[in-house]
Amino acid sequence: MPREYLKKATLTAQSHASEVHDTVKTILDEIEAGGDEKALEYAKKFDRYEGSVLLTPAEIEAACALVPEKLKADIRFAHDNVRRFAETQKATLSDVELEIVPGFVAGQKAIPVDAAGCYVPGGRYSHIASAIMTVTTAKVAGCRHITACSPPRPGVGVAPAIVYAAQICGADKILAMGGVQGVATMTYGLFDLPKANILVGPGNQFVAEAKRILFGRVGIDMIAGPTDSLILADGASDAHVVATDLVSQAEHGYNSPVWLVTDDRAIAEKVMELVPVLIDDLPEVNRDNAFAAWRDYAEVILCGDREEMAACSDDYAPEHLTVQAEDLDWWLGRLTCYGSLFLGEETTVSYGDKATGTNHVLPTSGAASYTGGLSVHKYMKIVTWQRATREGSKSIAEATARISRLEGMEGHARAADVRLAKYFPDEQFD
Ligand code: NAD
Repeated sequence: MPREYLKKATLTAQSHASEVHDTVKTILDEIEAGGDEKALEYAKKFDRYEGSVLLTPAEIEAACALVPEKLKADIRFAHDNVRRFAETQKATLSDVELEIVPGFVAGQKAIPVDAAGCYVPGGRYSHIASAIMTVTTAKVAGCRHITACSPPRPGVGVAPAIVYAAQICGADKILAMGGVQGVATMTYGLFDLPKANILVGPGNQFVAEAKRILFGRVGIDMIAGPTDSLILADGASDAHVVATDLVSQAEHGYNSPVWLVTDDRAIAEKVMELVPVLIDDLPEVNRDNAFAAWRDYAEVILCGDREEMAACSDDYAPEHLTVQAEDLDWWLGRLTCYGSLFLGEETTVSYGDKATGTNHVLPTSGAASYTGGLSVHKYMKIVTWQRATREGSKSIAEATARISRLEGMEGHARAADVRLAKYFPDEQFD
């Protein structure tokens, strides 16, 4: 059966892409030309902030003192889970060696990038967990310098809990600057910061576009823009839980798509009835975000069976994918495109967003079709090396000379010839 759209989006992540690109490109170019002063000008314009750009130790201490003890304990709990998961991931990256032919050895090493720039969003909400996710993984990877960058609030500065999280997770500097100006500051090395080798972290469409434009000049983890989430629900699911989970992700922002894919019309209709009611019950800011996201970006799709549901989900390649259906093992084996997968009603995206240890910095806008989320691996350069004995280089040199000549690359061929002549003067090679 063809997919039936019971609700269709009127906007997508691409709807305003070219306007966002033009805005971001202009800001990046102006800051590159104008340096610190221009970055400050944008900080004032967008965040109405005139305090310290780089927090001093005294300011960090004062901010940390404002964080309630219970919240500090929760942040340490989440940090510990993210750290342990990251350490386990790092252990999968072992250095390797292979004897290609007798006497010729090639190897692989994983080397962390030197300086990481971690963006911690803070426009609509104080994304404490993003500080934990980005700074902790950079620290476990072994980056030598870590900057945590987050937008300040007018008259307040960076949220104290973000400062506390960045500090305990291992940030070397805390940069009170948001959006494109924050990303530009870390990339261009303004305010005497080391130039970042990699930019990581989520953010709104402006942050995501700045990272995309700068990629190449600086590494990036991935495109991690406005959050998107898809729920696969069958007839065995609980419509109230499904609806609550959709609303929980729609509150991220007015442009955060949520999609429901089901093979059960009754579940679809019940969820569509419940979502507006649940949104209406949220506090004002959350309600406004979720309402706009549901109205403009959400979709409800009816499929014929679970195979079609899985194919539909893979087409969307959602950032967050939740399965509330029977036979979770089948879904785990079948699904291939997602940033992070939440299997069963007993877990939910909110858990992963805040505290389970898996990273919440995840690919958006379909990027999950080619990449996973933030992990220790994103900070590591997988480099190779080789060394050989004279005898070990012989067969490689002969093959190299012949291939090079066939390619027309005489200089390459002679680099092999010179060694064969030096190491094996009594032999003839063709
Ligand atoms: P943010 O920190 O990303 O952006 C705030 C900054 O945006 C401001 O400092 C300002 O400089 C800039 N800005 C605002 N309006 C602008 C304009 N018109 N032109 C240029 N710059 C402008 O905070 P946010 O806005 O709350 O967004 C957070 C985003 O992070 C949400 O979209 C959320 O969905 C996303 N997120 C994604 C993930 C993920 O892994 N993909 C995880 C968490 C959050």
